[in-house]
Amino acid sequence: MAKIKMTTPIVEMDGDEMTRILWKMIKDHLLEPFIELNTEYYDLGLEYRNETNDQVTIDSANATKKYGVAVKCATITPNAARMTEYDLKEMWKSPNGTIRAILDGTVFRAPIVVDGIEPCVRNWKKPITIARHAYGDVYKNTEIKVPGAGKVELVYTGEDGTKISELVHEFAGPGVAQGMHNIDKSIESFARSCFNYALDIKQDLWFATKDTISKKYDHTFKDIFQEIFDKEYKEKFEAAGIVYFYTLIDDAVARVMKSEGGYIWACKNYDGDVMSDMISSAFGSLAMMTSVLVSPDGYYEYEAAHGTVQRHYYKHLAGEETSTNSVATIFAWSGALRKRGEIDGNQELMEFADKLEKATIQTIEEGDMTKDLALITKNPNPNVLNSEGFIKAIAGRLA
Ligand code: NAD
Repeated sequence: MAKIKMTTPIVEMDGDEMTRILWKMIKDHLLEPFIELNTEYYDLGLEYRNETNDQVTIDSANATKKYGVAVKCATITPNAARMTEYDLKEMWKSPNGTIRAILDGTVFRAPIVVDGIEPCVRNWKKPITIARHAYGDVYKNTEIKVPGAGKVELVYTGEDGTKISELVHEFAGPGVAQGMHNIDKSIESFARSCFNYALDIKQDLWFATKDTISKKYDHTFKDIFQEIFDKEYKEKFEAAGIVYFYTLIDDAVARVMKSEGGYIWACKNYDGDVMSDMISSAFGSLAMMTSVLVSPDGYYEYEAAHGTVQRHYYKHLAGEETSTNSVATIFAWSGALRKRGEIDGNQELMEFADKLEKATIQTIEEGDMTKDLALITKNPNPNVLNSEGFIKAIAGRLA
């Protein structure tokens, strides 16, 4: 059988620990036998990030701007323990944060729905896609531990000398204070990414903030979405038969619980962080979730939503068998291959991506799965496979 050819490379961002092991297995068994894989490889494993003073992460993000499509393996975000474990020169920043800061954009996460693994919210019949704003708020905050009595103020000094200052709190004793920001340009591109993605996949878009309490900060998010919608998207949404729906975050949460699913839920950065974990655990697990960063300039970075599965990696290093779920990483690859095919007009590549996803879902539905899924499936007799066995079971169906 002739292998599928690719005209343009995909930016390949390798990663850490157990997911790095899965990465290689996926390439060996599911991709390279079928495709003449054309990638520009960047090693985002922590050792090489440390060696290059994290330049490799920046280079990989810039390469994504050049080629338009990237696929990323999960990576370690260093903490104190990792500093010692990897003898790091510095506590390098989260690669995802660095890449998002360069590409801008919005992360869309959706559960991978499989028969036999039912969401624990009974009425959820269709996936709920979380769109998480990937810039600012508490993730770019400034904090003070207030040592004792005194005043905390928020001060703006304009380039022209304009001054705005607001009292945050008059402290009588010790406490804490926090300053956050966001920028209109980022909120605007967040809004446009969401509206475009909704049109792309023809699903309603929900957005919610706490604008009744946060009358300037959150209200700005609400206003920007509404203005852009009215000006640029209202007619397109009507033509596509989909709606844009704004409500308060608490009302949104209540409605989500009672809904059937099948829409995109746009969330501010923190809400998206929290809600995507709720959605993924309710639908099965973090390992059954697709994740893609869509930039306002039309760049796409596909990844798995989970981490590097450290615990399994240590078992693997100790020579023990692991049963790590590779579905999210497989779907990161299929997503990137499909998008590459779409952009390049490569029909074969797009069809391969569909087949790979179908084979993966079919494998689980026919009872072959990893341990995490065996624990939650309705199937009374699941066949629990090890990490490589599961990937080979998919390869068998794919061939
Ligand atoms: P994790 O997602 O690796 O694991 C969390 C829990 O879920 C663990 O109990 C794990 O066993 C289970 N789990 C996750 N994915 C699984 C899979 N595919 N199959 C079976 N079980 C799975 O998160 P963590 O343990 O908090 O973090 C480990 C490392 O991953 C950290 O160094 C962290 O910085 C990094 N991390 C990276 C990303 C990313 O690159 N996108 C995201 C989160 C965490």
